Amino acid sequence: DDRISRISSTIRVIPDFPKPGILFQDITTLLLDPKAFKDTIDLFVERYKDKNINVVAGVEARGFIFGPPIALAIGAKFVPMRKPKKLPGEVISEEYSLEYGTDTMEMHVGAVQPGERAIVVDDLIATGGTLNAAIRLLERVGVTVVECACVIELPELEGRVKLGNKPLFVLVSSA
Ligand code: IMP
Repeated sequence: DDRISRISSTIRVIPDFPKPGILFQDITTLLLDPKAFKDTIDLFVERYKDKNINVVAGVEARGFIFGPPIALAIGAKFVPMRKPKKLPGEVISEEYSLEYGTDTMEMHVGAVQPGERAIVVDDLIATGGTLNAAIRLLERVGVTVVECACVIELPELEGRVKLGNKPLFVLVSSA
């Protein structure tokens, strides 16, 4: 699919951000190319449009960029998975580990219903801890997480292992 090579070529890599030694994959340059951005959304929509998905769960912050256009195109609701203390209503939360310390992800109570079918969307999977927390939140309330979907995977961090048997769909693998 020649759409993939175009998408891949628009992702900018910035060394030593946010700290020394990190090669940051920057999707803001993908967003500047309307064809690459549209192709990105189309590839996800083609994959999920006939899979009876009710819920697109987007992980803060870049899951809020890719998730909503996918949700609109496949006729699903969009549910934000947020950093602590951002959501105004009653929430459920899950802790997950970072390189140093922990973070928490929150979702509104009542946003999803038992038996609904979800995909979880983010820009990038590294260790898989973030997506794993999103899966746990949704499964706690009886939602079926069909798959996780990311633009970029950093395969050497083996984030797929942390997702257990949950399928992961990515467009670009970054060495
Ligand atoms: P994980 O939990 O280790 O898989 O980290 C994934 C989370 O960190 C996602 O929410 C990403 O947006 C963010 N992240 C980690 N590395 C990068 C990067 O190089 N570019 C953009 N986001 C990143």
